[in-house]
Amino acid sequence: MGPPGSGKGTRAKMIGRMYGIPVIAAGDMLREAAARGTEKGRVARAYMNRGELVPDDIVIAIMEERLNKPDTERGFVLDGFPRSVRQAMALDRILEKQNVTLDTLLYVTAKPETIVGRLSLRRSCPKCGAVYHLRDMPPKREGFCDECGSRLIQREDDVEEIIRHRFEVYERQTFPILERYQEAGKMKEISGNLDIDKIPAAIEEVLGKP
Ligand code: ADP
Repeated sequence: MGPPGSGKGTRAKMIGRMYGIPVIAAGDMLREAAARGTEKGRVARAYMNRGELVPDDIVIAIMEERLNKPDTERGFVLDGFPRSVRQAMALDRILEKQNVTLDTLLYVTAKPETIVGRLSLRRSCPKCGAVYHLRDMPPKREGFCDECGSRLIQREDDVEEIIRHRFEVYERQTFPILERYQEAGKMKEISGNLDIDKIPAAIEEVLGKP
């Protein structure tokens, strides 16, 4: 967990690679549903473009279906879920059914000032989900994905006014759920402000050797 633009996604992908477990990113799954034009996806898109949370029922249904796939049996990383009290309660219920306990909530710390600059320079690959930053992590060939060669896009919600609103939504709806994980002694912190090559060591420090 962490505010939008804190670097959650980058860290989640690294954790997935380091520990050999799938990364389940709520935002990516919602964007995929939107791109496929499913009923749920069309509703989700309208909320995402405004920087609002997608209604809990939609997100919970998509995440529950994903968590029931067999590749999660050896562990998984959740990126961007849960994001509301109802989602946190639903996650407890889903994991309880599977007899799984959550090891760690990794909280990515970031200052609001750094976020807008970071997200407005973010470019993403619509096909494989790779993420770039025009100044800090540019693609090798301008405008195209290093991984799959697709043309990079700027996400519709990565514009200043919507970024500010996403941050408010985060503080109002998501921040309050940190407390339940903190009280359960599951919360650990990682900085959102590290150079890319320093991130793996910081991850190992909190999660242990892969
Ligand atoms: P960021 O964390 O940078 O905002 P994400 O890709 O995680 O990027 O989320 C983008 C948008 O997707 C959110 O602003 C919201 O509209 C939607 N979204 C993602 N995860 C959730 C969730 N768990 N519940 C509701 N909406 C979500």
